[in-house]
Amino acid sequence: MDLYEYQARDLFERHGIPVLRGITATTPEQAGEAAAQLGTDVVVVKAQVKTGGRGKAGGVKIARSPQEATEKAREILGLDIKGHVVRRVMVAEGADIAEEYYFSLLLDRASRNYLAMCSKEGGMDIEQLAVERPDALARVEVDPLVGIDDDKAGEILETAGFGTRDAVKIAPVLKKLWQAYHDEDATLVEVNPLVKTADGKILALDGKVTLDENAGFRHPDHEQLVDLESTDPLELRAKAKDLNYVKLDGQVGVIGNGAGLVMSTLDVVAAAGEDLPGQPKPANFLDIGGGASSEVMANGLDIILSDEQVRSVFVNVFGGITACNEVANGIVAALETLGDRATKPLVVRLDGNSVEVGRHILAEYAHPLVTVVDTMDDAARKAAELASSTPSEA
Ligand code: GDP
Ligand code: MN
Repeated sequence: MDLYEYQARDLFERHGIPVLRGITATTPEQAGEAAAQLGTDVVVVKAQVKTGGRGKAGGVKIARSPQEATEKAREILGLDIKGHVVRRVMVAEGADIAEEYYFSLLLDRASRNYLAMCSKEGGMDIEQLAVERPDALARVEVDPLVGIDDDKAGEILETAGFGTRDAVKIAPVLKKLWQAYHDEDATLVEVNPLVKTADGKILALDGKVTLDENAGFRHPDHEQLVDLESTDPLELRAKAKDLNYVKLDGQVGVIGNGAGLVMSTLDVVAAAGEDLPGQPKPANFLDIGGGASSEVMANGLDIILSDEQVRSVFVNVFGGITACNEVANGIVAALETLGDRATKPLVVRLDGNSVEVGRHILAEYAHPLVTVVDTMDDAARKAAELASSTPSEA
């Protein structure tokens, strides 16, 4: 789960990381009031969208009075930044910046370790810096069992080229950022810019935080950070039913058991759709897991069939722990529940545990929308063809 900047700011504050005060606003008037409440000579009005490069897109503006903050918020609210429409701004105290640095901590899949990245040249374009002058971006591995202690902070800052005077001031902030990263089960904490102010203070001026949802059970308080407004409504419904569902942008609904099988089903469907008119693609990822009951199957089908983009559904089950008769019963149960609302063709491929019983149940039921196909490739082709030729509701 990615956090908004204002949520990252709050999280940093709770962990003792130096940040400036910030108040969120959803209207220009509220932004003016927020500026008055902060009471500083300079405030910064910042778009709250889950994407970088807000500064360059006109989403970060300085204001020198509450009136000006109102005006700047009016310019920023409603702005489209890389496909994200700004619905909220944060009005923050202005900082008198002397230098802008970069610091991040992340899970580096390549080295299977935590990685700290740090640069004296922070600010707007760290991706560009990483490509054009990789030497200016220090990369230091961090042992998860040790974390960032004094030694590690020193190593990171020295590698990034900081002198002792600055390093002494920045090191405690890096240690606290590590603590936040570790204690909150984050997979990314990025501060760009980490600044030194004219009077020598170190501040985290912009924060990007990704929390590991798999660790959510350890953090009941993370629940309230979920952004209900911008989460896909189908994903929310799926989550409420404990389904492993990810909305994608295609027309072929996919249900399978086991993440690996579902992933390869997505590939097979995409490949089958490539040469067809309209190039149908997978509409979602949905893994009903091992040992799925007919109820889980019915819940999954219900979600997929409510996706307006979906034109056909491919149910691909290899019965291991999951018995094919359960899956078949789930399909029947879902179609019974949906009644007339079930208007989209289903292609079903069953194999493995209790396959004969499963196929028999579907054959007996003989629903006009259900086609049983024996192999995964043929079934993918059939589902893609149906999505290609069936007119869309949307
Ligand atoms: P991003 O473009 O989405 O990464 O947004 P940032 O929050 O990093 O802001 C972009 C830039 O705006 C920063 O690199 C700073 O140069 C500038 N900026 C942000 N806050 C302040 C501030 O309080 N004072 C000053 N002078 N500049 C700021
Ligand atoms: Mn930034």
